[in-house]
Amino acid sequence: MRRLIGGVLLLLFALLWLLPGTGLAAPAPRILAFKQKVMKEADGTPYLHCEIGFSDAPQFTVKAGGLLYPTRVLIDLPGMSPGDMDPEIELKGKKFARLLEINEAAGHTFLTFTTVGPAVDESCRTMLVRGKEQSQLKLKAPFILMVDLFDGPYKPVDRVDGVQGHIIVLDPGHGGLDTGAIGPDGLMEKDVTLAVSTKLRDILEASGAKVAMTRTDDRDVYPGGAQTDGQELQARVDVGDATPGAEIFVSVHCDAFTHPKANGTGTFYYPKTWEDAALAQALQNGMVARGGRRDRGIKEARFYVVRNSDMPAALVELAFITNYVEQAMLADDDFQRNLALGIAEGIRDFFAARR
Ligand SMILES: [Zn+2]
Repeated sequence: MRRLIGGVLLLLFALLWLLPGTGLAAPAPRILAFKQKVMKEADGTPYLHCEIGFSDAPQFTVKAGGLLYPTRVLIDLPGMSPGDMDPEIELKGKKFARLLEINEAAGHTFLTFTTVGPAVDESCRTMLVRGKEQSQLKLKAPFILMVDLFDGPYKPVDRVDGVQGHIIVLDPGHGGLDTGAIGPDGLMEKDVTLAVSTKLRDILEASGAKVAMTRTDDRDVYPGGAQTDGQELQARVDVGDATPGAEIFVSVHCDAFTHPKANGTGTFYYPKTWEDAALAQALQNGMVARGGRRDRGIKEARFYVVRNSDMPAALVELAFITNYVEQAMLADDDFQRNLALGIAEGIRDFFAARR
């Protein structure tokens, strides 16, 4: 009898656990707060700065404009609840966007900004940050999505202080016949690494640094295509060795794993000197701060390019291309730009610590 009661109790608990809304399951991530302010870029260009606070890390995709809805910026937040937010919020300035609507459907929350002029990728900038310290509007939330709306295409020139005169080698991973890892929608690692490395080069050069790239287009670095991986990787190391005064070697990659849920940002190094780990940590900090993805930390590894470069070297894994959400982010121009800026800031911090 006692055993029977035990069994019934166990069954009851199991049922309670399975029933939704019994309070045993973790609460769904929700929107906590919204703030907005008209602000100005350093060059004087005005924009509407919006901050949306979340209880938990959101997944999101952004779609600006398009043929059907030319004056709309739509942010899709799967698995997010709108919380106690008003379904309609009037926007300040009236010059950038008029209205923000917040709707919930099919387990997604949709944020719809109705813009004044045509919405394009270059008129809308997004960045996910962790922690209220990053808020420019004193918004209190563990995660904040910043949405900046301009009244037309805006192409800022990002700069970092403290890299002037330094000589940096950038290695966009893979290329040519070697696609690198491929995401579930067909996004190729070699294209992401080149896009982020090119943005990173532009930031560093605008900041006064000298940059050598192992490749600037979609090709093998070894002339005519390598017979072995070793030849191809040595060709990349050779670019660094052939650059007079080169100080650091940064190889840019995307992570990949058989399990589609694997996610986050990580950095690898080989401890030739104490500076290798210091460089890896600085780049990792910069990417996590700007990219907002999970911090997988830095790890030692025997990757060819970091082991054989004749200077401090690190190999960054931006995010997982095999993860559906991170694949979409890696294809996004703003996310690429944020990661490039984060790496540039990491390079700045590395040089500052070395002095
Ligand atoms: Zn790779």
